[in-house]
Amino acid sequence: MKMTQATQALLKDKAYINGQWHDANDKAVFAVYNPATGEKITQVPNMGADETAKAIAAAAQAFPAWRALLAKERSKILKKWHQLIVDNVETLALLLTTEQGKPLAEARAEILGGSNSVEWFAEEAKRIYGDTIPTHKADARIIVTREPIGVVGAVTPWNFPSAMITRKISPALAVGCTIVLKPAEDTPLSALALAALAEQAGFPPGVINIVTGDRKAAATIGKTLTSDPAVRKISFTGSTEVGKTLMRQSADTVKKISLELGGNAPFIVFESADLDKAVDGAIISKFRNAGQTCICANRIFVQDSVYDDFASRLVERVKKMKIGAGIEDGVVIGPLINERGVEKVRRHVEDAVKKGAKILFGGKTLERGPLFFEPTVLRDMTDAMAIKEEETFGPVAGLFRFRTEEEAVRMANDTQYGLAAYFYTRDLAQAFRVSERLEYGMVGINEALLATEVAPFGGVKESGIGRENSKYGIEDYTELKYSLVGGIQ
Ligand code: NAP
Repeated sequence: MKMTQATQALLKDKAYINGQWHDANDKAVFAVYNPATGEKITQVPNMGADETAKAIAAAAQAFPAWRALLAKERSKILKKWHQLIVDNVETLALLLTTEQGKPLAEARAEILGGSNSVEWFAEEAKRIYGDTIPTHKADARIIVTREPIGVVGAVTPWNFPSAMITRKISPALAVGCTIVLKPAEDTPLSALALAALAEQAGFPPGVINIVTGDRKAAATIGKTLTSDPAVRKISFTGSTEVGKTLMRQSADTVKKISLELGGNAPFIVFESADLDKAVDGAIISKFRNAGQTCICANRIFVQDSVYDDFASRLVERVKKMKIGAGIEDGVVIGPLINERGVEKVRRHVEDAVKKGAKILFGGKTLERGPLFFEPTVLRDMTDAMAIKEEETFGPVAGLFRFRTEEEAVRMANDTQYGLAAYFYTRDLAQAFRVSERLEYGMVGINEALLATEVAPFGGVKESGIGRENSKYGIEDYTELKYSLVGGIQ
């Protein structure tokens, strides 16, 4: 990575606890690699239960003073953080691409999109309204207020190593909560850079704490966060499997929970669709971040009469996609995050081919490096294939065929997931009918980019609990308090 003064200032090799940059107690570290080159970028502390407990204690100590600030004072610090993120977008994007692999343009978009959450919640900090309720007794009054829930334990994934953090911690900070956050092993650097800017913005010590740990340490850190009674809420983004574990572990201390988990998004192309727009949408929805987004189209359902036409248009577009390191000009597909990710993609393609799918384009890794997988289009997909059940989390577009609207909706809903769904139609009645029948938290109708700070992001079924961003996202970090004031004669 090109080491400018700006990069040096934000490239941290220590964790951040109670306003100080810390090593692990035993000085253990783990390496962070550039997935495009396999080179080591730096190393960060490999922490465990003791350091996590220390971070929780710091967050608990910082909580009373942070919640007692006027909303406007918290808002000012959040706004300053937002501005610092925007001012440092180029450095943050370079750092993100270097540790995560996505094209620089996508990294920039992630940083700015994530900073929008900070700005939005800085504004919302001043609007945490309660209620007064018409009384049931002449001499009493009912007041309902919203209070910060307390210390929040947050765990975030590698696929959006910046935006998943700002989206979680901004509403929590805005309402007066304090945070202990564990970023993913593959991408701790974006988290630490955000903490460095938060420090500059003036968050008091203990309000934001970042504990780093590798994949083995994750379970210990998670266990500490979920078992400590001082942590009042767990907010997690990642796989459904780990989400369920954290939910189980949180039961003993009855914590509030927000889970943003896996998806298996259907992308339906009806014969009534504008096919060019549907192809544009499929490219964005399927191949952004090399297919490693939780709201990626995973099963593409195309109506019989337009199936071949859609398939050939999609292949023409996919053929032109430039693959390479995210920092290279014009690259739209970077490397996958790690060998585990590549293995899953390879398994899905092999399984589909074995069961009768045909590869229209791609299908293998590139000589350029072990983590580069070609954007791939498969046709003749069936329900017997792994892609029908599991999120591929890679650049593989599998095309399923359907005949009727009824059949498309049934196939789309035939999964335990319910995060995002997409469909393309120019038939207004069909748009309403299908949208209402899809069992998903988010639906894109002739639109493939759903995330924005102003709208509620989240899923139903085994895709999660709660919503992030928007006015609904802030409620998850508050508790309602009902006060009955008597003796009013
Ligand atoms: P993951 O394995 O669940 O990891 C997510 C985070 O959990 C990482 O920080 C990981 O640490 C940590 N972790 C792993 N095991 C843990 C444990 N036992 N206790 C506590 N923390 C633990 O998921 P991933 O493979 O990194 O991410 C991909 C998944 O996230 C996909 O399923 C995707 O759909 C989902 N996702 C969902 C959303 C959404 O908003 N719904 C957004 C993005 C991603 P290590 O990295 O150190 O293992």
